[in-house]
Amino acid sequence: MTTTGTIEIAGLDGGHIKLTSEQLENLDSRVQGRLLVAGDQGWNEAVAIWNGMAAKTPALVLQPTSAHDVAAAVSFAREHGLLVSIKGGGHNIAGTSIAEDGLVLDMSGMREVTVDPDARLAQVGPGCLLGDVDRATQAHGLATVLGFVSETGVAGLTLGGGFGYLTRRFGWTVDNLTEVEVVTADGQVRTANRDQHPELFWALRGGGGNFGVVTRFSFRLHPVGPTITGGLTIWSAERADEVLAAYRDLTESAPRELTAATIVRLAPPAPFLPQVWHGKPIVGIQVCHSGANPEADLGPVRALGNPIVNLVSPKPYVAVQSMLNVMEPKWLHRYWKAEFLPGLSSGFLDAWRSSALNVTSPLSQSVIFHLAGALNDHPDDDGAVGNRGAHYIGGFNATWPPGAPADPHVAWARNGWARIRPFSTGGNYVNFQLAEDDSTRTAAAYGSNYQRLQRVKADYDPDNLFRVNRNIPPGIESSR
Ligand SMILES: Cc1cc2nc3c(=O)[nH]c(=O)nc-3n(C[C@H](O)[C@H](O)[C@H](O)COP(=O)(O)OP(=O)(O)OC[C@H]3O[C@@H](n4cnc5c(N)ncnc54)[C@H](O)[C@@H]3O)c2cc1C
Repeated sequence: MTTTGTIEIAGLDGGHIKLTSEQLENLDSRVQGRLLVAGDQGWNEAVAIWNGMAAKTPALVLQPTSAHDVAAAVSFAREHGLLVSIKGGGHNIAGTSIAEDGLVLDMSGMREVTVDPDARLAQVGPGCLLGDVDRATQAHGLATVLGFVSETGVAGLTLGGGFGYLTRRFGWTVDNLTEVEVVTADGQVRTANRDQHPELFWALRGGGGNFGVVTRFSFRLHPVGPTITGGLTIWSAERADEVLAAYRDLTESAPRELTAATIVRLAPPAPFLPQVWHGKPIVGIQVCHSGANPEADLGPVRALGNPIVNLVSPKPYVAVQSMLNVMEPKWLHRYWKAEFLPGLSSGFLDAWRSSALNVTSPLSQSVIFHLAGALNDHPDDDGAVGNRGAHYIGGFNATWPPGAPADPHVAWARNGWARIRPFSTGGNYVNFQLAEDDSTRTAAAYGSNYQRLQRVKADYDPDNLFRVNRNIPPGIESSR
């Protein structure tokens, strides 16, 4: 840390607090990790997030190296009433990893993964990106449920629920979470699982960053691959009706080993697409088949015939997990709207398709992911994540370059969302919520689990120290 003077930092009461150099030195002496202020080496990387539109500037960053460091920082933040946030992979679209003018705990230094292949468990540091975990577990032919873009953070994805190519087989990511180590607002390092602090563990399984700073995740692993069949097939969007009907038929009959997503967008200037198609409307089906007999199960996709390109082939699972990274470059401006869906009715598909084809930016895309399967097997109160009636998630991802006007792209996503909303389960994914979404949308994400979350919040964070997130305010009642 280069500063030797006082810094002004945002407080929990909405005002600003002066921290003297002695107070900063006191924090510094209690931790092994680095303290950074603006201008320090590594500052820009520490405060950068995926959605450029949500960028903010903190006053102070700590890069903890252990649960002990995190406990010291949480106690310091509580003692001084500081606004504090936690950064995992920095991919949250609402930019909740950065507390404006506040203290950021940047967990990127805690990026270790340890795999026990016999116990089929992975211990994962809170700074890990999805790719770190997939690479370590796939070395043993194992995997857990993680998302589709390998640069996303494990921490934020998991704490909001988490889904990916293996969700149909093994449920939400949190259905595979067996234990966490977490520093709660009182500065205590706790182990939470189904036996120890079971209500805290229940809340962490979907309730986001509201209940403490997780310093270790433990995941159950499953045999997967390491070679699976996957990839993207792309057609002209003139065939959108036919391709979407085939997508519906495919997903309604597919075994759980097959997960498919469909994408409508303008063709990117990607090397795998003939140049003549660049900028033209396309429709794609992305598949991941992790079981036996992929060719038979993928018959309906093949039967469509005459694609512009077919990239489906046997490949390493880790390659499929990172295949969509190229579509998600960092620091562009983003605005997403999505809903959980009970099915793909004709009314939904008509509304989604026509909105998707009206896209305003060559960087935007409209996506539907298939989720149905294992997650529907659990009762709705098995973990805070809920949404056990979801069979798909679908919506509109608007993207445009910094400096360009946001309005047309925001309006496109909002209009499309208004048209598909009547087909929603009523639930939505907390990890896709925007900064502008209000508390009713957060409550809707949890449905009947919301009040229980408020009770757990009252027990473990009664002063709402952890509030830079999709916030669940403490309830009046306790869960004890
Ligand atoms: C390109 C892209 C693809 C995505 N694909 C998927 C997908 O396939 N499946 C899916 O489920 N989601 C997906 N998401 C959504 C993703 O789950 C969220 O953006 C999630 O918040 C990202 O986690 P992160 O750690 O990178 O985010 P961050 O912005 O770093 O963190 C998000 C929030 O999580 C909390 N948090 C982070 N670390 C901790 C910690 N150690 N302890 C306590 N709280 C913490 C904090 O409140 C923080 O503000 C995707 C997002 C993007 C941008």
